[in-house]
Amino acid sequence: MTLSNFVFAAILAVALGFFARSAQRLVRWLKLAKPEVRTDRPDVRTRNFLLIGLGQSKILREPLGGMMHALVFWGFCVLGLGTVEIMIQGLYTPFTWDVLLPRFLYVPYVFSQEVFAVFVLIPVAYLLYRRLVIKPKRFDEVSGADAVFILSMIATLMVTLLLLFVGDAMQPGADTTGRVITAMLLPLFSGLSGEAAHTMARVSWWIHAVLILYFLNHLPGSKHLHVLTSLINVWFSNTSGPGRVGAMRPMDLEAEDAEQFGASDIEHLSWKNLLDGYSCTECGRCTAVCPANTTGKLLSPRMIVVKTRARLTEKATTLDAIAAGGGTATAEQQAVLDKKLLDDWITEEELWACTSCRACVQECPVSIDQLDIINELRRDLVLMESRFPEELQPALTSLERNGSPWAFSASDREQWAEGMNIPTMAEMAAAGEKPDILFWVGCMGSFDDRAKKITVAFARILQAADVKFAILGQEETCHGDPARRMGNEYLYQMLAKGVIETLNGYELKTIVTFCPHCFHQMGKEFPDLGGHYEVIHHTEYIERLLAAGRVPLDTEHGQRLKVAYHDSCYLGRYNDVYDAPRNTLRKALPVVELVEPARTKSRGLCCGAGGGRMWMEENVGKRVNVERTEDLLATGADQIAVACPFCMTMINDGVTGAGKEVPVLDISEMVAARLSGAGVVAT
Ligand code: SF4
Ligand code: SF4
Repeated sequence: MTLSNFVFAAILAVALGFFARSAQRLVRWLKLAKPEVRTDRPDVRTRNFLLIGLGQSKILREPLGGMMHALVFWGFCVLGLGTVEIMIQGLYTPFTWDVLLPRFLYVPYVFSQEVFAVFVLIPVAYLLYRRLVIKPKRFDEVSGADAVFILSMIATLMVTLLLLFVGDAMQPGADTTGRVITAMLLPLFSGLSGEAAHTMARVSWWIHAVLILYFLNHLPGSKHLHVLTSLINVWFSNTSGPGRVGAMRPMDLEAEDAEQFGASDIEHLSWKNLLDGYSCTECGRCTAVCPANTTGKLLSPRMIVVKTRARLTEKATTLDAIAAGGGTATAEQQAVLDKKLLDDWITEEELWACTSCRACVQECPVSIDQLDIINELRRDLVLMESRFPEELQPALTSLERNGSPWAFSASDREQWAEGMNIPTMAEMAAAGEKPDILFWVGCMGSFDDRAKKITVAFARILQAADVKFAILGQEETCHGDPARRMGNEYLYQMLAKGVIETLNGYELKTIVTFCPHCFHQMGKEFPDLGGHYEVIHHTEYIERLLAAGRVPLDTEHGQRLKVAYHDSCYLGRYNDVYDAPRNTLRKALPVVELVEPARTKSRGLCCGAGGGRMWMEENVGKRVNVERTEDLLATGADQIAVACPFCMTMINDGVTGAGKEVPVLDISEMVAARLSGAGVVAT
């Protein structure tokens, strides 16, 4: 070993030692939070790791910036092998992979190092340009200084790597096989002597190697920690698997030692919520699509994650300092410990602005679940402190007393069915019969005058298709989803368990509903409480009936119309149902020309009613439903199609507020109007 090898060995040992200490500290901090099992469904997790992690599928949702970031990521993966080579060279100078790899692998390796150095340099230049010159609005909220510093560091790493290659290639007898980029750069250095080229290579090597070790130690304390944690975060992400996406984390309300429900500080969150904080790149993609933020509310999903990380750092470093100082907190340290994530960092106003639309979760390139943190903080507000907007009180009281968020009597539930000859489950059971499906009507479909028209329309389609179905009638009660979204898990579980008991009593297997909230809750969240059913949204069911040729339609008549379909969040982003509503419209209404609003499908804007917002005032900023309605009206559509009674109310209000007369119809109403013999050709 030469002196330079000894010097590098010392630098390497110190750098790795510091890094190991930082990594151990970060893992220890995660243990401040609650344990949570995240190793289920390894197949789904591995697929996410490959697609979202290595494949960068979510970052590529933004075409140009996404491709630039993806190139940097893939470049780092490929250049990692070269970094190992450089580290070994620091300890034993003559080392190259050539001594271990067969020639047919070594030459492509050399080629890849050069090409990917350029592949990284170009996007880094673009990303620096974007940060310093273009300055997209979504970067306003946080400081970009660290990003500029890191990008400059990466650029220096790539330049020194290329200079190293060139300098080495200029040495007598150098092997230049596979060095395509070097060959292109060599003419630029033709004036250098062999000795000067050697010096350039050595200096570049040292700068490159030391910078990598500095980079490694800079990451744990910066937002660029995501470089180390994002792949891990994607594997552990909140994907209980297809069909369980978006399901809220269940709470064990019967745990005898439970003193805390929900979260008011970091130790009440799960370790995964804290890992989310480590993994946030602060890119702001979540905030840019958040309906609350974009309409002027205080809520920013990025800041929910950033503040969670900041509170963790604040509290954990204080705890470390107290431990190092003998275990007794100073008054100042105690004041920090007495603070909370809730109120001191994240305010009630932010939390109640959330519509639970999942646009933030959908958009996050590293699979962070911002909504999970919001839900946990809401649970603390409601269950531990009884703090919630006063407008929610009537809905919560009514849910408790009437089994519906609206103060209607259970005896009114089946008024809509008068004269339609629709049996209840109890009547069928008494007659010794079983229906093929239960038509779950839902609270809006039972009580809201506008939604009742959707209920009737869908029942007419079922009757026309000769489907053997029944309703629960007065036995139906709310499944508690609104209470759950508002943070009242007690009330939710009470209502949900009651519904599951009723359904299990009839040994039900298949439920069809036109409310996406009922669809999601009963299909995706009931299994945690023992309710296992096939739950189908009415657009999917009508699509199936149409495919089977069971719906007698008049497809001959009617004027040609432009229709814009609005995606419901709980149908689309929560359950990936995008095609069935569109297919149903196309199949049933050949005269319809479907037009898409600018924000559509997984990027569709929320109507503003989810997350309990249906029952809250919206006094800050622009109304979300107005913003969404403007999107839909901008298509020039003659009619707006929806597939959710909540969206129906919000978009209807938006159209009325805009002074337009564009009809807003549920898809089932459009189909029912076309039933042969319906006598109406409304579309
Ligand atoms: S769920 Fe929707 S409203 Fe809530 S923070 Fe995320 S994007 Fe914003
Ligand atoms: S939470 Fe995700 S989308 Fe939002 S700023 Fe962080 S990394 Fe970007």
